[in-house]
Amino acid sequence: MRTITIRYTAFRQCPNCEGRGDDGASWRPTECRRCRGSGALVTGVEVEDSVDGVLPRSRYDFNALGEVYLLDFDEDEEFEVVRADSA
Ligand SMILES: [Zn+2]
Repeated sequence: MRTITIRYTAFRQCPNCEGRGDDGASWRPTECRRCRGSGALVTGVEVEDSVDGVLPRSRYDFNALGEVYLLDFDEDEEFEVVRADSA
């Protein structure tokens, strides 16, 4: 099956919780809404397609939570998404 491999290449500290992943008070911890508790926002990804190789930035979009959207894939094409840990 076609495989899409996503690698996160760059992060920045979440400005809302300053990397703690928690924006509540010490007596009432609350998962940070902006980074959903990870403490970091994704600023760079690399997407590698088993068919086309590394995709240019124009072929996908992503958000700070690391959700990647492929822009020009056929909806009925099946592929497997693999999230690789960044080295
Ligand atoms: Zn946060």
